[in-house]
Amino acid sequence: MIDATSKALFHTLARSALLRRLASRHGMRPNGFARRFIAGESVEEALSAVAPLAGRGLRLTLDYLGESVSSFDDAAAAVREYAGIIDAIVAAGVERNISLKLTQLGLDVDLATAVDNMRRILEPADRHGFFVRIDMESSPYVDRTLQVLETLWQQGHRTVGTVIQSCLIRSPTDIARLNGLGARVRLVKGAYKEPKAVAFQDKARVDAAFVELMRELLDHGTFPAIATHDPAMIDATKRYAAEKSYANDRFEFQMLFGVRRDLQARLVKEGYGVRVYVPFGRQWFPYFMRRLGERPANVVFVLRSLVRERE
Ligand SMILES: Cc1cc2nc3c(=O)[nH]c(=O)nc-3n(C[C@H](O)[C@H](O)[C@H](O)COP(=O)(O)OP(=O)(O)OC[C@H]3O[C@@H](n4cnc5c(N)ncnc54)[C@H](O)[C@@H]3O)c2cc1C
Repeated sequence: MIDATSKALFHTLARSALLRRLASRHGMRPNGFARRFIAGESVEEALSAVAPLAGRGLRLTLDYLGESVSSFDDAAAAVREYAGIIDAIVAAGVERNISLKLTQLGLDVDLATAVDNMRRILEPADRHGFFVRIDMESSPYVDRTLQVLETLWQQGHRTVGTVIQSCLIRSPTDIARLNGLGARVRLVKGAYKEPKAVAFQDKARVDAAFVELMRELLDHGTFPAIATHDPAMIDATKRYAAEKSYANDRFEFQMLFGVRRDLQARLVKEGYGVRVYVPFGRQWFPYFMRRLGERPANVVFVLRSLVRERE
């Protein structure tokens, strides 16, 4: 995890309209610098990018990128997009698993809109046997995200889960709440710049919390996803599972498209389940900037690609 200052810098840059325009022009060309992390702008491009992954024994979740929608109409448009994506995934015969963000579905408009829009997505998704993961956004959204999930759960939806971030001080309570419900949790360190009042600021504490929460999930969770590229977190998970004689199918690892492909392949070879989170869509810039903020080497990678494009 990169230090908090760099994380903040990339979050500020992510809001720059000029950078966004420049990136849109260059990033998603064939061999453009963003293609390493984003599977394409259309569902067709994404589906052709994921075809080789399934052949390598990797599981998938597709994420149609979008967030911070502020109008009812834009949220409704995202729901229509998801209906088309569900049909395209079914037609392509790839794994039926999607991830989405509630601010894309109108959480900033109001909670009821987000619940209604989730229901509109879950109806066809349930019919076709999909699992739908609600990504976790920054800390002001955590309460509302859990509320939406619980409302859907009360309405009988069971193939929906969410994400918990180990950087947040509140997370042990949230994990207990979700384990009590029986909902699936994806554990991550947290991608957002968070204030001291609610989040650990140093890597050692975020990592220690990750290990604690991983153990809690392996002991009491429902098919938890341990989502990290950090070899120390992965080793801790493998060791704990072995110590408790937990079978490999009790949990899975998850990693991002284009990140640590070597480690993804090694874990599959060792017999662990590995799911790759595959983002696509025209609204890729904020997601892309969060990935740059996590690792300075990614900035070098982008700059090299830009230089190569000019040559
Ligand atoms: C499947 C999945 C879903 C996620 N969903 C959410 C979510 O819903 N909400 C949320 O807040 N966050 C989400 N995240 C992001 C997560 O919170 C972290 O920001 C991200 O995973 C980096 O943390 P890390 O655990 O890999 O460890 P770090 O300590 O950040 O990194 C450990 C090592 O992993 C490698 N690495 C990490 N990131 C990168 C990168 N971008 N490029 C190249 N190498 C890298 C490097 O070798 C690094 O040294 C998700 C992550 C994954 C894998």
